[in-house]
Amino acid sequence: MPELMPAIFFGHGNPMNAVLTNGYTEAWRRIGGETRKPKAILSISAHWYVPGTGVTISTSPRTIHDFGGFPPELFRVQYPAPGDPQLARRVQKLLAPLPVTLDDTWGLDHGTWSVLVHAYPKADVPVVQLSINESQPASFHFELGKQLAPLRDEGILIVGSGNLVHNLHTYAWGRHMPEPYDWAVKFELEARQMMLAGDFKPLVAYEKLGKGAMLSIPTPDHYLPLLYVIATRQPRENITFPVEGVDGGSISMLSVSVG
Ligand code: ZN
Repeated sequence: MPELMPAIFFGHGNPMNAVLTNGYTEAWRRIGGETRKPKAILSISAHWYVPGTGVTISTSPRTIHDFGGFPPELFRVQYPAPGDPQLARRVQKLLAPLPVTLDDTWGLDHGTWSVLVHAYPKADVPVVQLSINESQPASFHFELGKQLAPLRDEGILIVGSGNLVHNLHTYAWGRHMPEPYDWAVKFELEARQMMLAGDFKPLVAYEKLGKGAMLSIPTPDHYLPLLYVIATRQPRENITFPVEGVDGGSISMLSVSVG
């Protein structure tokens, strides 16, 4: 099915990646360059984690600097991609009868723009964000991903932005090149094997996967965007991992591409 757009989960990691050049950002740039140019992007970011499902409706979504304690250059980053109200309404329709708010308060948060400044540096592809309803279980989010899958046939790139392993308690802020934690490596490997086998059920029920999963996913926000992406997989489609690595010992930078 070469006409289908891929769906891609990006491990975004440290917000500073937005202004850095490193192996991750170079890979994001490559992915953007190699992927057929989308009509628009639907982004599901870990950083719009709220008690409801909403889509951004603005024609010019603002760049949100949703973090503190970073250098001024990061606060100066702007990502002026246009919005796409038509796509927002299409998402609302695909998810009906679920109530989806057409939201004009949010914009693009750093989960979205820290990756897209590299993948689509011209900011010339319209972007819509979909919020993650924090009051719903993982199975709900996986089902939403399935309902959004037809967008891939309409020239839309579905992007999930989070981290498969995301433990900031154990993250080595500022320390030099720590080795990844054993539990992080092991959980990432298990998750990769399940994805390659198309065995998504245990990934949806990740809370039953034991201690490594609990350490890797202490809160669901950075994990759930992955479920949206893998849920769009069609029969016989490939899953690949175009970016790999563990940052600071406990942040998996793995990217997952479907199709
Ligand atoms: Zn994040």
